[in-house]
Amino acid sequence: MKHKRLPLSIRILIGLFLGIIVGLLLQGKADFAKTYILPIGTIFLNLIKLIIVPLVFASLITGVASLGDISKIGRIGAKTFLYYLFTTAFAITIGLVLATILNVGAGFVLESNNLENTVEEAPNFIEVLVNIVPANPLESLVNGDMLQIIVFAIIMGAGLLAIGEKGKIVFDVFDSIAECMYKITGAIMKLAPFGVFGLIVPVVAEQGIDVLLPLLKVIAVAYLASAVHLFVVYAFTVKTMGNMSPAKFFKGAFPAWLMAFTTTSSSGSLPVSMQCAEEDLGVSKPIASFVLPLGATINMDGTAIYQGVCAIFIAQVFGVHLEVNQYIMIILTATLASIGTAGVPGAGLIMLTMVLKQVGLPIEGIALVAGIDRILDMCRTSLNVVGDISCAVVIENSEQKRINK
Ligand code: ASP
Repeated sequence: MKHKRLPLSIRILIGLFLGIIVGLLLQGKADFAKTYILPIGTIFLNLIKLIIVPLVFASLITGVASLGDISKIGRIGAKTFLYYLFTTAFAITIGLVLATILNVGAGFVLESNNLENTVEEAPNFIEVLVNIVPANPLESLVNGDMLQIIVFAIIMGAGLLAIGEKGKIVFDVFDSIAECMYKITGAIMKLAPFGVFGLIVPVVAEQGIDVLLPLLKVIAVAYLASAVHLFVVYAFTVKTMGNMSPAKFFKGAFPAWLMAFTTTSSSGSLPVSMQCAEEDLGVSKPIASFVLPLGATINMDGTAIYQGVCAIFIAQVFGVHLEVNQYIMIILTATLASIGTAGVPGAGLIMLTMVLKQVGLPIEGIALVAGIDRILDMCRTSLNVVGDISCAVVIENSEQKRINK
């Protein structure tokens, strides 16, 4: 008799819970967990990473080339950018309001040895802008520089569109590469329950209660603000602008959420979010392959929330009173900083320096939250990724409406 297998998302969840239990059992033996269990997670992560560049590059070229009309790229691009900008500004406001109301820094005792960590500098914003346009696109592909790859793929797709019939051979080649990468993504995801287990055990084993306890409030406020953004803002946008029931949306986006939660990398979760958007949420390939890679690099609502909560936490702990204009400054800089944050683990922590500097808060404050960064990163990355998928759903619906008009 053939027995039915549990659905993949349930198996991934089981991997996560077993990982948490084993991690708790291995508290104090983090070295063991890192040496023997983490490699399972790392192999899984490498498998996912190996498909990212060919997947994004090939699917974006074919996506743009099959839009049929260059002006469509501009229109979809503008809508996508506006959606990302507004949801991010909303996210940071929610973070600021909740952190202020709940007094996130209250009760935290500042110990001088908390401040030993050195602080890395965030890159200059203009530099980031200039670097988006690649001088050597092959180098961008080799380095996996996502924004440069996106720009190159859009230019290439637009070029193919312009030469019409002559571009067919190249189009077919990339189309076939993209198909192949989708297929491989599906196969790799079957290993996700083991990968998630391997990634989560060392995190739980390492983050002992004594590291977490003093900072429990920051963690709680960041998670709460993210939950509000998820279940209020995204539920609202997918319902009203995406014409989709929030329940269907959350169910469809769940594998990507979980992937982001465990890997703490938006870029690393990209193959899965593309699969969720296309297969479960009915987003067309051109839109998914344009909106999602862009979102994985520039749209970081979770990171924006985190920056807001941390800024207030650091201000309160150091006894700095913030004026209204400083709040506005935090909203502006955190929105920009979240755009500039790379979709890789820990990037948000580095960009927090930019926000603190702009607002005139002590940069040493970074050291306070550095110890729990992984726990906060899990929260912010998973929200970042769901935000990207919500945008894909919204843009798909608005393009459908145009066609049906
Ligand atoms: N890890 C986050 C991401 O990949 C970025 C961050 O650190 O905030 O989306």
